[in-house]
Amino acid sequence: MSDRRNTGAAGRALGPRGLPSLQLLLERDDVGAWLESSPREAVVGALRTALAEARDALRTGADADAPAPAPDRLVASARTALDRRADAGLRRVVNATGIVLHTNLGRAPLADAARAALIEVAQGYTNLELDLETGRRGGRLAQIGTLLCAATGAEAAIAVNNNAAATLLAIAALADGGEVVVSRGELVEIGGGFRIPDVIRQGGGTLVEVGTTNKTRIADYRDAIGPATRVLLKVHQSNYRIVGFTDGVAPAALVGLARERGIAVVDDLGSGCLTVPRPVASGEPTVREAVASGADLVTFSGDKLLGGPQAGLIVGREAALAKVRRHPLLRAMRLDKLSAAALEATLALHADPARAMTEIPALRMLTQDPSAIASRAERLASRLEPVLGSRPAIVASEGRPGGGALPEAAIASRAVALALDSGVIESLRRGRPSVVGRIHDGRLLLDLLTIADDEVDAVADAVGRAMAACRAP
Ligand SMILES: *Cc1c(COP(=O)(O)O)cnc(C)c1O
Repeated sequence: MSDRRNTGAAGRALGPRGLPSLQLLLERDDVGAWLESSPREAVVGALRTALAEARDALRTGADADAPAPAPDRLVASARTALDRRADAGLRRVVNATGIVLHTNLGRAPLADAARAALIEVAQGYTNLELDLETGRRGGRLAQIGTLLCAATGAEAAIAVNNNAAATLLAIAALADGGEVVVSRGELVEIGGGFRIPDVIRQGGGTLVEVGTTNKTRIADYRDAIGPATRVLLKVHQSNYRIVGFTDGVAPAALVGLARERGIAVVDDLGSGCLTVPRPVASGEPTVREAVASGADLVTFSGDKLLGGPQAGLIVGREAALAKVRRHPLLRAMRLDKLSAAALEATLALHADPARAMTEIPALRMLTQDPSAIASRAERLASRLEPVLGSRPAIVASEGRPGGGALPEAAIASRAVALALDSGVIESLRRGRPSVVGRIHDGRLLLDLLTIADDEVDAVADAVGRAMAACRAP
């Protein structure tokens, strides 16, 4: 490296345009201390990046005589960059957005029973593929299938990694390279690039669109069925609604037509209510209703209105499920043991609807009493009063189910409104626990619909820490 050094006026080793060399930075005392707590490669990498960025800034900057940043500043910016990288992993977030099934925040928080089941399975070995009664190799997830059949009235059931996988697998298993007929009003994009036309193609099917955006009739399906047709696919309009001059075909009518022609019906319910959180989701078809309509396969998510871990559930007729079980894609999409444990425990709670409503956090939030939300808002405002120096305002707010479910449903809620600098809001988001709220009219709203009772103190403390961090020089 010495060949690239030149000697500055002060006799120090400086690189091009007065930047210190990497070696010089590494010899500093503060970097020495840093190296004791962080891996050398990471520190060297961060310093290199800081130097490269400074070099680029000098080269492209408008002022040709701008001085190079001091070594102190280079080390500080390398350190900040490395700390941020270390902070980038998964961590606890307090959801103060008022959106219950927030996809970016991991959708449904787990019930205590689901969390306990997950930890038990994580701690040691488990009977994943062993039947403990007989001592023989047993099918994984048998209990999940039993609980799902009991909850939905289906003949058979299976769980996979998520509903995107469930839908793809259902199509792949039943379309068998043939045509899949879908209404133009149901060619949904769920988000994250999950689009029904692409899913059909990836499942080896050929999409046949019928009807129009706002109206599809049974005759449209009938006219579209040909010798290559294998599946009539119904898709829940999860995250949008078509209102006004509209018409669709009920699942039972589709099933009637499909039976006549010897083809299958797949119904992708998306959210899939086992226990309906009324009144929020009053109009939602339940999984039991979809199964009773006679669809061959019904698919839905584990972490939307079911309130469990990420999973995709496929329920329906035994003959159709047998094709799913035989399909080679199943292995690539199977549920892992931790999610399986949490799902099984969540499904067990659904066996008693009243228990499901109180013990599954997403359902509890969606159906909680407005007075409980109001009293949490009062508690948070009181806890924030000494932190802020004055009592913050409590405002009426509208929460949402989220998760691409029930786009029209608004839930009356209360939020604490804080006039904070953007720096404090950012610091709050970056903190531990992170607190993510909603910005409205230049204020940060902390919505009590999604803040749990036992999170109120943590939120107030986090606001205090974020304000202190921004006051510090
Ligand atoms: C949400 C949704 C999916 C995808 O489910 P994930 O569990 O997110 O994979 C598929 N279809 C519909 C109709 C949905 O609403």
